[in-house]
Amino acid sequence: MNESLRIGICGFGVAGGALAVLLARAGHRVTLLERAPKVGPVGAGFLLQPSGQKILAQLGLFDAVAQRSARIERLEAFTETGRQLTDLRYDHAGSGLCAYGVQRGVLFSALHETALLAGTSVTLAAEIAELDETPEGVLVRDVTGRNFGPFDLVVGTDGSRSRVREWLNPGNGRRREYTHGALWGSGHLDSPHDALHQVARSARQLLGLLPIGEGRVAFFWGLRRDEVDALQKRGYERFREDVAALCPRAVPVVDELGGFEHLSFAGYLHSLPRRVHTGRVVLAGDAAHAMSPHLGQGANLALLDAECLARHLSQSPLPEALSRYAAERRSHSRYLSILSQVLSPFFQSESRVLGWGRDIALPLFCAVPWMRRQMELSVAGLKEGFFHRL
Ligand SMILES: Cc1cc2nc3c(=O)[nH]c(=O)nc-3n(C[C@H](O)[C@H](O)[C@H](O)COP(=O)(O)OP(=O)(O)OC[C@H]3O[C@@H](n4cnc5c(N)ncnc54)[C@H](O)[C@@H]3O)c2cc1C
Repeated sequence: MNESLRIGICGFGVAGGALAVLLARAGHRVTLLERAPKVGPVGAGFLLQPSGQKILAQLGLFDAVAQRSARIERLEAFTETGRQLTDLRYDHAGSGLCAYGVQRGVLFSALHETALLAGTSVTLAAEIAELDETPEGVLVRDVTGRNFGPFDLVVGTDGSRSRVREWLNPGNGRRREYTHGALWGSGHLDSPHDALHQVARSARQLLGLLPIGEGRVAFFWGLRRDEVDALQKRGYERFREDVAALCPRAVPVVDELGGFEHLSFAGYLHSLPRRVHTGRVVLAGDAAHAMSPHLGQGANLALLDAECLARHLSQSPLPEALSRYAAERRSHSRYLSILSQVLSPFFQSESRVLGWGRDIALPLFCAVPWMRRQMELSVAGLKEGFFHRL
């Protein structure tokens, strides 16, 4: 429908990479602008849900990614005393379903290679600062004052702290930094399980182990932003003792990491902007809906956004394609955004009451078949609203 548009994609992450592949294959002239001086993923690993697997299969990348990833059958959570809080199973959400624990580098390399093969041009060290709509198209300016474009369409896939989102929503107040985040790293375990294993002490402490393939596991240790310095000052040995007290299974990973310099802190942010498009600029991925990672959905939503936007661009002329894309994706991203905002404090906050509430409520919910199924469909990414399935 839209013949060979000039498309600028700001941000080479999951959404930007997937979009570049789809749009370049559809015959558009695609330029990816990325602020990092070198291409590469940030972070340890993530859960690829059944919803995201479908899109990777459409891109022809699913087999290559799955082969190097870990099959995840269950999401299990325990209290520090060993009491089980959840045991959610993917095959309850659909026969044969599972998730994959994926090393970010594995997905990123697959997207990078395929985007280049499809004809995408990639410009690195281009940190986008602002946009300018001119009669010839949209110009994109980076922080050094370089201009890129003009483009017929600019897609903001520049992540949770998106500049394109700010440009579309000047003075946007609908952005909230969480007080909490997590230290992330990865190491090896002799026999990683087939589950994301989480241990919680009240809502104050959350530890997780996610198998990510090739014998590796991603390790995370949740904490408040303002506790990171104090933790480091106490020393790595004391941190190791804390980990051993909460989850002895994680100790070999902490030993292999060997020091705080091999753990990175990720702070979480929530944003659901009012405007996700104008006639020639549109947001996708975290830029359109940043949320805490407790539900494990962000990368999957980014893939779903990319597929949906590319499909509407192939079916409708430009301004209409963007409206249709935004309308189709609104319900799913709003549902998960609200759910993550409501649930995050039960897993990471200062509230003892929320921690107790969670420890009582979660096992009860899991014992009610309808509730359990709703939870299993939601984590699989197959529920797009409180009353709708994808
Ligand atoms: C600790 C942690 C754990 C997570 N676990 C999961 C999980 O298990 N499952 C899941 O589905 N999701 C998970 N997520 C969320 C997931 O990582 C994101 O939702 C996903 O990466 C979003 O993709 P994106 O392409 O929108 O943004 P990103 O992947 O963040 O990519 C954004 C890109 O834009 C670039 N950029 C930023 N600003 C600019 C600029 N001004 N100019 C140019 N380039 C710019 C960045 O360098 C980056 O390359 C997790 C997130 C975190 C932080």
